[in-house]
Amino acid sequence: MTPLQERLHQIHTLLPESVQLVAVSKFHPIEALKEAYAAGQRIFGESRVQELQTKQPLMPNDVQWHFIGHLQANKVKYIVPYIDLIHAVDSSKLLHEIHRQGERYGRVVRCLLQVHVAQEDSKFGFSPEEFKTFLNSKEWIALPYAQLSGIMCMASNTDDEEQILQEFRTAQELFMWAKRHHFSSQASFCECSWGMSDDYPLALRTGSTLVRIGSKIFGRRS
Ligand SMILES: *Cc1c(COP(=O)(O)O)cnc(C)c1O
Repeated sequence: MTPLQERLHQIHTLLPESVQLVAVSKFHPIEALKEAYAAGQRIFGESRVQELQTKQPLMPNDVQWHFIGHLQANKVKYIVPYIDLIHAVDSSKLLHEIHRQGERYGRVVRCLLQVHVAQEDSKFGFSPEEFKTFLNSKEWIALPYAQLSGIMCMASNTDDEEQILQEFRTAQELFMWAKRHHFSSQASFCECSWGMSDDYPLALRTGSTLVRIGSKIFGRRS
């Protein structure tokens, strides 16, 4: 095993079976993705459309591509033909566009709503109130090609573990609220995307089903 494959293996041994690993390969060369693929990794996360567009044709067909970054509505059309999951849907407008393009390509695209739970200022994500208001509006029911499949969040960039846990718990409660009030009969609403290289052990304690790990696998981004 190469050092990269050993790091990947190490992380996999720490994850329970209910949690999937998204290998965040942004800014890393295709050789690094191939090395991870050779060790069995199939889910890769990218955060820029152009970079994803370059890499996607160079990898085998059974790779599941996850888009984890902020996505502009005018770029949705490029990734809809092959994307497996869009993690960070942060507006009604974006969800509408994903539905529109999904319908055009005849492809249902799984989406997560990004909720803003961190204390840091961020332009992106629904606040907990906005999240509930949006789901209660039920406008998403008319958008079946953008299939709501769970929620995603990022915790504050801090060493304070209690704070991070608190933020993940807030996201977990929002997920459970949504499941109970809007998706109780939909098995497809099942994903909780939180946990990165520095905080994924905390994410595993708070219901995460998808951890997005980059630097712990691939090393520092150049
Ligand atoms: C870059 C990125 C990650 C991975 O970060 P690491 O700290 O390298 O594990 C996870 N999620 C999102 C949204 C990212 O942009």
